[in-house]
Amino acid sequence: MEYEHVRAVDPDIADALEDEVTRQEETLAMIASENHVSKAVLEAQSSVLTNKYAEGYPGKRYYGGCANADAVEEKAIEYAKELWGADHVNVQPHSGSSANMGVYLAVLDPGDKILSLDLTHGGHLSHGHPANFTGQTYEVEQYEVDPETGRIDYDEVRAHAEEFEPDIIVSGYSAYPRDVDWEAIQEAADAVDALHLADIAHITGLVAAGVHSSPVGVADFVTGSTHKTIRAGRGGIIMCDEEYASDIDKAVFPGTQGGPLMHNVAGKAVGFKEALQPEFTEYAEQTVANAKVLGEELADHGFELVSGGTDNHLVLVDLRPSHPDTTGGDAEEALEDVGIVLNGNTVPGETRSAFNPSGIRAGTPALTTRGFDEEDMRVVADCIARVIDHPEDTDVKADVAETVADLCDANPLYR
Ligand SMILES: *Cc1c(COP(=O)(O)O)cnc(C)c1O
Repeated sequence: MEYEHVRAVDPDIADALEDEVTRQEETLAMIASENHVSKAVLEAQSSVLTNKYAEGYPGKRYYGGCANADAVEEKAIEYAKELWGADHVNVQPHSGSSANMGVYLAVLDPGDKILSLDLTHGGHLSHGHPANFTGQTYEVEQYEVDPETGRIDYDEVRAHAEEFEPDIIVSGYSAYPRDVDWEAIQEAADAVDALHLADIAHITGLVAAGVHSSPVGVADFVTGSTHKTIRAGRGGIIMCDEEYASDIDKAVFPGTQGGPLMHNVAGKAVGFKEALQPEFTEYAEQTVANAKVLGEELADHGFELVSGGTDNHLVLVDLRPSHPDTTGGDAEEALEDVGIVLNGNTVPGETRSAFNPSGIRAGTPALTTRGFDEEDMRVVADCIARVIDHPEDTDVKADVAETVADLCDANPLYR
């Protein structure tokens, strides 16, 4: 992939873009929220729709010249409804966080109460963290996963809800390897007359493909990021019942956003269409199968998995029992040296900090996109184990780097 027009303007920027293509081609992207979109999605995202102002919604725009923008957005909405089975879909949120902001603005007043999962237990900043506007605008209390099982304790969520009486309960997580019982959260919400927002940012693709349970039709609102497991253009999405449609649309525009990023909406439309093909179901199944093997192999190498395993696309490793002197940051750094890119992550019962956490999170969406199967994942798990066991051993690291290079060569991305 070459950026000749960029190069004519600024060679340094062109170098960085081309180096990024090489970086993605030659390293293993195991950050659980990342994926590699198709060339079709890339093409749509870099289209001339970036030039177009289309404030409003299809057929009701505040600007002229929106026929093509309408056509693209209508397609994105149509495909999203088909993928997730939602009554109403808004495809304009600039990101998953913006989608959540839209929901909060639509149904909460400042000072209203949010009950959500703690960030260090797998939650997300936009669910009420003090550093986020949500933590500063709303009154927030948080639930935690059970320290023994690493899983959501739905009875505890319900008890917490009965005590706190939140206006909204947020489910859906960033670092939770298990299936979610959306009905149980809904029952907790019903018990205290609260709304329920299910944020499926990470698992949009798994839910669309039917390999993860779906909160659509259960929760009042379902939000997501569109560039994670669903592998579409970058951004966010909100789904809801018809009764909330107009409140949600108004909260997105003009409530929290101006003109939609129509080139990204085009990327969403193209990615959603791809996800409607039977191959996408195979992809989602393989993503989960790969994560399972990754988890099992890491466990065989002596690593402790939070919750003991995974039902989805990610594993969360608590390094403390097996490698008490290795932080998630140390592991992240050593692995990056050999071309394995993942992130240090907090774990339930974190005893260090968010900057220097005790775990690592590893996901399979991007590797599965480039064709990795169970056999490859065994090799990857072995590489991870060897590097974390011997972070200073240059021979081990050189050997692993070679294995990583071979895996990348065998599974090209954009070449
Ligand atoms: C990734 C994520 C988001 C935010 O997505 P952005 O598109 O990065 O804003 C929101 N919620 C959860 C649970 C996430 O994992």
